Amino acid sequence: MSHQQWIAQCIESAIDNASRGQAPFAALVVKEGRVLGEGVNDVKATNDLTGHAEVRALQAAARASGSRRLAGCVLYTSCEPCPMCLGAIYWSGITEVYYGLSIEGQAEFSDLPQRQYAEFRRAPSERSVHAVQVSPEGMDPRRPFLAK
Ligand SMILES: [Zn+2]
Repeated sequence: MSHQQWIAQCIESAIDNASRGQAPFAALVVKEGRVLGEGVNDVKATNDLTGHAEVRALQAAARASGSRRLAGCVLYTSCEPCPMCLGAIYWSGITEVYYGLSIEGQAEFSDLPQRQYAEFRRAPSERSVHAVQVSPEGMDPRRPFLAK
């Protein structure tokens, strides 16, 4: 199948997901021309805010392949990935992603992903989420990595 056909499949699946009252997103992980994992956004159904289509497709592909490393696979998604999903894609080792609607195009419906990407371009001290390092006295935060 062509990239256009895979994206068309994602868009159809996203429409189907929306018709079932869920958010309109769907994704596929494809390996050597066949679907290894598919996912739709199930945030509303599960109240799991990480239930984005790309995350679900990556989870399904990892289960199907028996590995969390998905290098060599291709991810297709109905919309350009949000920062969380892009992070998950990096963790998977996938380096090839194709999407339907861009982040800018999604802004007509929700500008949250666009605002998140803009937030990451700011200095940490200027972001709305304040991540602060805390060092308990006498405790090396590297200990979990050093424990064997
Ligand atoms: Zn996402």
